[in-house]
Amino acid sequence: MGELLADHTTLRLGGPADQFLTHTDPATWPDLARSVPGTKVPFVLGGGSNTLADDAGYPGTVIRMATRGITQHPLDDGLVEVIVQAGEPLAEVVEFTAAQGLSGIEYLGGIPGTIGAAPVQNTGAYGQQISDTLSRITAYDWQLRRTVELRPDNCDFGYRTSAFKNSPGRWTILAIALRLIRSPLASPVSYPHLADALAVPLGARPPLAEAAQAVLADRHHRGLTLPAEGPDCRQAGSVFLNPAVTPAQATAIHHAGGPVHRTSDGSLRASAGWLLEQAGFHPGRRIGTGVYCSDSRTLTLAARESATAASFAHALRVLADAVVATHSIRLRPEPGGMLKT
Ligand SMILES: Cc1cc2nc3c(=O)[nH]c(=O)nc-3n(C[C@H](O)[C@H](O)[C@H](O)COP(=O)(O)OP(=O)(O)OC[C@H]3O[C@@H](n4cnc5c(N)ncnc54)[C@H](O)[C@@H]3O)c2cc1C
Repeated sequence: MGELLADHTTLRLGGPADQFLTHTDPATWPDLARSVPGTKVPFVLGGGSNTLADDAGYPGTVIRMATRGITQHPLDDGLVEVIVQAGEPLAEVVEFTAAQGLSGIEYLGGIPGTIGAAPVQNTGAYGQQISDTLSRITAYDWQLRRTVELRPDNCDFGYRTSAFKNSPGRWTILAIALRLIRSPLASPVSYPHLADALAVPLGARPPLAEAAQAVLADRHHRGLTLPAEGPDCRQAGSVFLNPAVTPAQATAIHHAGGPVHRTSDGSLRASAGWLLEQAGFHPGRRIGTGVYCSDSRTLTLAARESATAASFAHALRVLADAVVATHSIRLRPEPGGMLKT
């Protein structure tokens, strides 16, 4: 039997891949790409923290990106370009850059997964997203069958979306370049509870190291970290994106006491967690075979003993349908993957 995808996803779900390759040495990429048959594009995995893999596995090649390496060189005006290989854990890159006194990704600390996957859903937190500081992406284009350099302007970045998400399988991200600012100060704080934790007003620029620490503490406090063990250790974080709402829906939600915020792409977004709670769900609630709202957050589903990818996908449908019934809003699953939900 092939390598089980359950061993490579944080939900620990998923059957065998026909062929499973681990990419560790950037220099060997051309050979690896040539070895993949031309008929079907491979599925690329980073840390598997945003992937729901099918119980039947994957009928093709899965490539796990495990290349490591960070280099940096100064540019003009206090800017520094940091080039990171795709398999570097995002959380470690944030720790590294904060320790080097480089500001720009400090609010992305504590997010599981690899930096190579971050552009796919334009990974973000606390008002910061990876596209804010991306300057270049080196990727393999499976359509052209060659390595290309992509500029962020051509990647259709938006709230938790990108060209990579919209054309699954077309590109494999090999490395990214970030443009960070050498500064002892973090980017302006835009989240009220983080500002409170740091005892600074909104918009202030706290010391970089303190901001990075406050993010980790806040994530821990709010159940936004991946526990090593315990009932919630098998999860993929938030299971739905905060949905875009119309001004009329935003007003109705606001009057009902729900949060609505405007994202950097200008859209009004409601809180998916709040909508689920309005629909009657709560932390710890069971949603079908082996699938529960996590003990600390309704918006995080945890897979427990008897869960399967099918029961997890079913739970997503149950939650999404309930919010359609209560608010006429269709939630979209955040984890991507090999399984249609
Ligand atoms: C506890 C927890 C908290 C989280 N908090 C956040 C958060 O605050 N904000 C947020 O945005 N996300 C969050 N996530 C989701 C997830 O961790 C991030 O989106 C992360 O960037 C995914 O990285 P990964 O390597 O695990 O991706 P994977 O699950 O391995 O892959 C995700 C997608 O990207 C594709 N992919 C992976 N690597 C590459 C590559 N090199 N080239 C091309 N495609 C690739 C895959 O095919 C798949 O479609 C959280 C998850 C957990 C478990």
